[in-house]
Amino acid sequence: EPHIESGTQSSRIKVAIRCRPLIEHDFLSKNYSEYGKEEIISVEQDKSKVIVMDMENHYHSVYDAAFDQKSSQSDIFKFVSPQIKQIFDSKNCTIFAYGQTGSGKTYTMFGKTKPQRRIETESMSSDNDETGITPRAINYIFDFINSIDQEYAVHLSFIQIYNEKIYDCLQDAHNVKPLKVREDKITGTYIEGLSEFSVNSMDACQALMNRGEKNRITRQTKANIHSSRSHSVVQIMVETKSEDSAGMIQKAKLSFCDLAGSEKLDKDSSNEKYLKELKTINLSLTTLGKVISALAKNHMKKITKSKTHNSRPFREYVPYRESNLTRILKDSLGGNTNSCLIATVSPTVDCAEESISTLKFANRAK
Ligand code: ADP
Ligand code: MG
Repeated sequence: EPHIESGTQSSRIKVAIRCRPLIEHDFLSKNYSEYGKEEIISVEQDKSKVIVMDMENHYHSVYDAAFDQKSSQSDIFKFVSPQIKQIFDSKNCTIFAYGQTGSGKTYTMFGKTKPQRRIETESMSSDNDETGITPRAINYIFDFINSIDQEYAVHLSFIQIYNEKIYDCLQDAHNVKPLKVREDKITGTYIEGLSEFSVNSMDACQALMNRGEKNRITRQTKANIHSSRSHSVVQIMVETKSEDSAGMIQKAKLSFCDLAGSEKLDKDSSNEKYLKELKTINLSLTTLGKVISALAKNHMKKITKSKTHNSRPFREYVPYRESNLTRILKDSLGGNTNSCLIATVSPTVDCAEESISTLKFANRAK
């Protein structure tokens, strides 16, 4: 029977950095001759430290964990699984992948999506199972449910948020019917009309996720990679069918967020549609950053208070309502929840500035 660690009352988000290995794309880039394939990021895994060093840029910082180019999907899952497992303790959990387009967000959350040959180097993982966090978590859930003598119901939903509008990736392939966020005094915030599919196997979930991923809004960027311009959120709701001593049904949900690319203005293309996308992506990522850092500050105050027995400390305002992403995740971020942010970076010199900006974002979330 899988073991569940019981958690603390902490709502501090756990933050890890992952640096991907060199891939074929890095060599095909038109800047190749100018920049070369020089890797400028080094990771000291034992110290959870990431260092960026090139001619112009220097930056280093320490996180809850740091994963180097060699790290495997299973290493990443080991980092997030203690949080995920608490879903059976009725604790909501959210996992975010944040980073520049092409840095490995989708790879980390779901696994290999399109064929891309890795460049065989010394710095590569020897673990070949490329399944990402989401399918691994779903596997864990079904294994657990099948190993115990209690009935559970599992549901899956898949949305994307584009220009602050919410679309159901499993019902609305053409993104024509934006859904509304509603607030209910008893059940909290919910998305009106969102489809929730009852699922009872990994295969059923995988088929739904493949369908949803196809409907994400992407754009070709100067890096010539499909850049996701929307945030996607896959949610897995788990509920027991039996009531506990207080007559309540135990419920919890896992949210997997593959965020839109965090890169700043792409100077090559500046049409109006593109600029609007960029503004809303920035708004929601900035709000997410503010929410996470306010939660971290409140968590620190709680610790200080319990040590000093002072009067009630001033609580930081948490601006959930400033973007739809944080509005719908409110019940999975604050309070008695568990969350992890995986910030992904590319190792090459041409990404230095964006990598530093990703590392700074992750630093504020600690
Ligand atoms: P993003 O979603 O951040 O835009 P992707 O996840 O699509 O980036 O990754 C870009 C490319 O790099 C993909 O072809 C992906 O398979 C590859 N890739 C990303 N991270 C890794 C990794 N850790 N190991 C091997 N390949 C990776
Ligand atoms: Mg992606």
